[in-house]
Amino acid sequence: NWSSSDSVISTDSAWEPAEPGRPYRVVLLGASGVGKTAFASIFGGAADSMDSDDCELCEDETCEKTIEVDGEPATVTLLDTWDTDGEWAQECYMQTGDAYLLLYSITDRASFLRASELRITLRRFRPAQHTPIILVGNKCDLVRRREVSVTEGRACAAVFDCKFIETSAAMQHNVWEAFHGIVRQLRLRRDSKEA
Ligand code: GDP
Repeated sequence: NWSSSDSVISTDSAWEPAEPGRPYRVVLLGASGVGKTAFASIFGGAADSMDSDDCELCEDETCEKTIEVDGEPATVTLLDTWDTDGEWAQECYMQTGDAYLLLYSITDRASFLRASELRITLRRFRPAQHTPIILVGNKCDLVRRREVSVTEGRACAAVFDCKFIETSAAMQHNVWEAFHGIVRQLRLRRDSKEA
């Protein structure tokens, strides 16, 4: 309860990744049609899960499950940003994630450019922190429709100082590698904070 004379105190609701046992919040970012939903379905499916039940994406497009990475369990909450073109939703996700999978489609140059824009916006929201990000070139099964080369993807990731991987959600190729990679980066960050 606050009266009009109260000043608005901005509370930092971003959660602390170093807190032991707290799930890692991983956000899927990218243009429409690049494969975010496909990634979320693979994550929510049975493969690699330590949970007995499959995890359905809830109405709010989040899914939490415990996966094993390098012999150690990691609880991940995955957020699928279905409305990333909406400015408000996008900014909201950029403030709440611990790590980001930044997707584009190798068959769609516009989505590659969109990924760069999103990376720049992300940097604005996270200037001080080293937030783990992996640039993901999805749909690498569609070789004949390729518009963005591996070299370009890699170069972009180097400029943006993040990791890079090409995946195919359709073939389930490298998708878990991307999820595991982001957990490894989050652990490195946690370990360096604890040190
Ligand atoms: P979103 O809008 O980013 O959530 O994209 P979706 O996951 O809905 O994918 C858009 C379309 O691309 C769907 O028809 C998917 O089946 C298809 N798709 C997603 N990933 C791949 C992939 O790796 N390879 C191919 N060939 N199609 C894909």
